Amino acid sequence: MDFEGKRVIVTGAGKGIGRATAVMLARRGASVVALTRSPRDLETLEAEIGCISIAVDLADADATRAAARQALPADLLVNCAGTTELEAFLDVSVENFDLLHAVNTRAPMIVAQEFARERVASGRKGAIVNVSSCASFVGIPDHAAYCASKAGLDGLTRVMAKELGPKGIRVNGVAPTVTLTPMAVKAWSDPDKAAAMLTRIPLGRFAEPDDIAEVILFLLTDAAGMVHGLSMPVDGGYLIA
Ligand code: NDP
Repeated sequence: MDFEGKRVIVTGAGKGIGRATAVMLARRGASVVALTRSPRDLETLEAEIGCISIAVDLADADATRAAARQALPADLLVNCAGTTELEAFLDVSVENFDLLHAVNTRAPMIVAQEFARERVASGRKGAIVNVSSCASFVGIPDHAAYCASKAGLDGLTRVMAKELGPKGIRVNGVAPTVTLTPMAVKAWSDPDKAAAMLTRIPLGRFAEPDDIAEVILFLLTDAAGMVHGLSMPVDGGYLIA
């Protein structure tokens, strides 16, 4: 997979899957525009891959739109930033519900709107990958707001695919299982819970960030030229188990 000459926006590039994706893209020739929150992460990423860095809180809609415009033009977009809060359904707060939807669902929409408007205006093709989750397909206890936000993102992916496909922009999602990142530490550090999850993954392990990044990169390339509108599980078989 050669990304020479391609400029790629990656949100959430500071840590975890987004960082692995940004590094892999840069190693394969891409020029990366990293959008994330922590300035320290941007500094270290810039030192590692020479990316363009834009610090933004993606929970802020206006700041997100301004950051997306600043990142343009770009050939490809990876909406990877995401966040979670664990709460039993009976205790889900409106604040956390809104926060998760703002970061996990609304921000990808805003960034993709700005990306796609520029592509259409300049008559250029493009591709978008939205990083969703297996939590979009199944109900996971204590993840109500997260599951809802990712199911919303998959809905967005399908509509974007219908509307943007005819304009030359392919849109897909990936749906990882538990992936060993800082977010997974927050959500799966209880050993009993993690062990129960692991028994449901036929390949017998959690994902590494590079497992997900490889699939994201594939979906961005012309090799995936007829793959469109999917939220592709990258789950070691979790969803069929
Ligand atoms: P991490 O928490 O490891 O990294 C998330 C990245 O997104 C960080 O760089 C973080 O920046 C950034 N981010 C989070 N909130 C904001 C915000 N408000 N504004 C700007 N940047 C923000 O997460 P993962 O790598 O694990 O997750 C990446 C994606 O994969 C997410 O969409 C997640 O939902 C999804 N996913 C993860 C799974 C897992 O098990 N890890 C499983 C399935 C899906 P900062 O640290 O500065 O806040």
